[in-house]
Amino acid sequence: MKMMNQERKTVEKIKAQKVIGIQIGAESFMDEGVEQVLDILQEKGAVNTLYVSTFTYDRGIHGRPGRNFPDHGIRKPDTDRYHGGNYATPHAEFYKNTRIKGERLKAPDFGNVDILKEVIPAARRRRMKVYASVQDGFNYPEDVTDFREFYEENLDGRKGGAMCFYAPDVREFWKAVCVDLCTSYDIDGVLLFNERGGPFLNALGASHNQSIQSSQVTCFCEHHQKAAEANGIDFERAKEGYRKLDAFVQDSLGNNRPADGYYVAFERLMFAYPEVYALNRLFDLGKSRILADVYEAVKGVKKNQQVGFHIEHVNSFNPFYRATRGYADMAKIADFLKVVVYNNCGGERYAGFVRNAGSIIFRDVPHEELMRFNNYLLGYAEKEASINELAAAGLSPDYVYRETRRALEGVQGQRCDVLPGIDINIPTGRNSRVQSPEDAYEATLAALKAGAQGVILSRKYSEMTLANLEAVGRAVRDAASRPLP
Ligand SMILES: [Zn+2]
Repeated sequence: MKMMNQERKTVEKIKAQKVIGIQIGAESFMDEGVEQVLDILQEKGAVNTLYVSTFTYDRGIHGRPGRNFPDHGIRKPDTDRYHGGNYATPHAEFYKNTRIKGERLKAPDFGNVDILKEVIPAARRRRMKVYASVQDGFNYPEDVTDFREFYEENLDGRKGGAMCFYAPDVREFWKAVCVDLCTSYDIDGVLLFNERGGPFLNALGASHNQSIQSSQVTCFCEHHQKAAEANGIDFERAKEGYRKLDAFVQDSLGNNRPADGYYVAFERLMFAYPEVYALNRLFDLGKSRILADVYEAVKGVKKNQQVGFHIEHVNSFNPFYRATRGYADMAKIADFLKVVVYNNCGGERYAGFVRNAGSIIFRDVPHEELMRFNNYLLGYAEKEASINELAAAGLSPDYVYRETRRALEGVQGQRCDVLPGIDINIPTGRNSRVQSPEDAYEATLAALKAGAQGVILSRKYSEMTLANLEAVGRAVRDAASRPLP
């Protein structure tokens, strides 16, 4: 009995020291009841921090799963399409400096329910922390007419499906959303999601879930032109470079091999048009400026709230993407980084990335050899599965460990917590690994062993099985009850 008390104390200690967070959307609280959900999260998952999907139009962090429904929640097949928006209550006075009227963007999915108002008091009674997740991303951009004027433009001047970082109203808008939430609610901070990549990477399909979109790249709007000129970039040359890159991509996909091979032809194009990289860099600058804006604005509220960023999966397996940003720079404008290390779905995603890369620039290299080579560049273990088995095998818990270590070393001693995003039942293709409780246990333990300040269970509670959540709780307790290296 004494041992049990001791054990409980140690577990309480680690729970107090480490963030055991979970992403969760309004639908779960509505379907299952706030108190019931919090009971489950605390008892099974040892969860002490909620990242409530508060402003989002992207089903990555809200909504019910379309298939592979877990063992809780309510199955409503006809309502797995969500409109999205602000699941709290937006206040007009915060949107005075932007023409995007945030007060019109209340999510209609649950009527007048204000999810933060529902959850915060119950969470506080249990000493749980509450963060509002805010996401720039759209599954159905056509649903949100208020944003249309501010969408990006492609090479042909057609409007795309995401808002331009250089439109002054957009910059003000993201600040307004976060300042409204931090001022109006007793929250511990915000977690920002923005998975968008720049035009160079999009042209090559450089992420896991992308088609190759070389003819659709953005942004070439008037605001971008102004920003390009201010940064000494020849905008017309940049456009020409992207048209040539598109032609190169289409030729590659059409198996039209240049005499010098795909890689040399690509590099030749990059030397001739350095504006291609420069415009991609401009995109990254715009994206990080929005993050910096939000960081500064939230600190201005003076409630000691924290600002964190979700670092998307492509950061883990694309060396080009890794090169466009560094953890040390991100740590300067963030209190914590949620680093995606989803290992189970990571197998399928990584294989998808290698196949995309291997269909253009590296088309002369067999996919298996390209992946092995890339594994070395990325610092992955040699034991990861071969490309044809990778989806079924997933990436290993060792991958979680290594990527966590890389982030911890990357922040270079700055005060910025690293909270790896742990894959719990993230949907995959039909031939991919079905995550077991043991997988969830190993991934969580690997992140904690690596020395992370906590974990964030991802992507959302509504798609997680209770058995896997229970396995996470077991890993947290095991990590607490034995000394970690
Ligand atoms: Zn633009």
